Amino acid sequence: MEDCIFCKISSGQISSEILYRDDHVFVIRDIAPKAPTHLLVIPLSHVTRVADLETDDSPMIAAMFEAVTAMVLREDVGNTGYRLIINQGVDAGQVVDHLHMHILAGKKLPEMG
Ligand code: 5GP
Ligand code: ZN
Repeated sequence: MEDCIFCKISSGQISSEILYRDDHVFVIRDIAPKAPTHLLVIPLSHVTRVADLETDDSPMIAAMFEAVTAMVLREDVGNTGYRLIINQGVDAGQVVDHLHMHILAGKKLPEMG
């Protein structure tokens, strides 16, 4: 989709270090990390909202969690723990309208409030 930063990164229009890629998703480091490990798991296709997901998207949804498992192993944070976040809409502070999952780890994360 035009003017979508994550579509531009996935197509290579904007360069970014791709840490992981399969047929459905890719992973990059967040440009403004909130923890020592702050990764973004991003579908290759432009999906805006969880509510737009359909049964056909099941392989992509599974791929998001497979990417989480792979990255948690690679970053060696499985034992200390990590947090997965999907921000949806204004109240959650979503700024990029292309579905993505944050992986936060590497420090004691603040309580959810
Ligand atoms: P949201 O609030 O939409 O869930 O989070 C979007 C995240 O994308 C933010 O944490 C922001 O720092 C990150 N981000 C925005 N633009 C870029 C970019 O161009 N490159 C990378 N690596 N991260 C970005
Ligand atoms: Zn997009």
